[in-house]
Amino acid sequence: MAEPIKIAYLYEDLMNTYGDSGDVKILRFLLKQQGYDTTVTNVSLGDDFDANDYDFLFFGGGQDFEQTVVAKDLQRHRETIKDYIEAGKPMLCICGGYQFLGTYYKMSDGTVIKCLNILPLHTVFKADARMIGDTKFITQFGPAQAFENHSGRTYFDDQDKLKPFGTMIEGYGNNPDDHTEGMRYKNVIGSYSHGPLLKNLNIAEGIMKLIIQNHQDRLAHSKEAVMA
Ligand code: GLN
Repeated sequence: MAEPIKIAYLYEDLMNTYGDSGDVKILRFLLKQQGYDTTVTNVSLGDDFDANDYDFLFFGGGQDFEQTVVAKDLQRHRETIKDYIEAGKPMLCICGGYQFLGTYYKMSDGTVIKCLNILPLHTVFKADARMIGDTKFITQFGPAQAFENHSGRTYFDDQDKLKPFGTMIEGYGNNPDDHTEGMRYKNVIGSYSHGPLLKNLNIAEGIMKLIIQNHQDRLAHSKEAVMA
């Protein structure tokens, strides 16, 4: 039997706001149409995790309280997630999950949540102007519509390394200043879009292709390893 496509959902039980788990459901549906079975592993508090055992990593959004809980556990996985990202493998991170890829998330009371420090971006919480509402933006996969709900404002610290995932037409995206939505680095996409994001099938199909490619590469490598 063909080996299923393996998806790791990071902290599925804690990071799943505003329909984000729908992103994984849509990908599973599209992959099934292409003839691929999938498994989804909830990698949660205290679990062992080797990112390179998987074909796709998903990290959804979370409320501030859940983010403080996850932040305490997450650092254990920094190296494996960093290696996975640097190898060009696909990952989708929404809102709180996206914020976690950066250096820090500074909350309204001044508390700083230490993030993974994998990508040069940071987030500052501004309670007085929460960014809530429907969004429209243009991505490299084409136009998209979604929903945002966050107080964190994300800024890039290295404009050459990170590219925006999209350009805003309606709504805020990363922050009220830049008119950008999310981030793309290699095959990692970070986004403030809920709703879920992948109801935009142009984006879902683009990500699905990256997942299938990574799956084929992983199987080819494991065959090489057996033959060596
Ligand atoms: N708690 C974060 C913020 O308000 C993330 C919210 C979310 O993931 N929807 O910015």
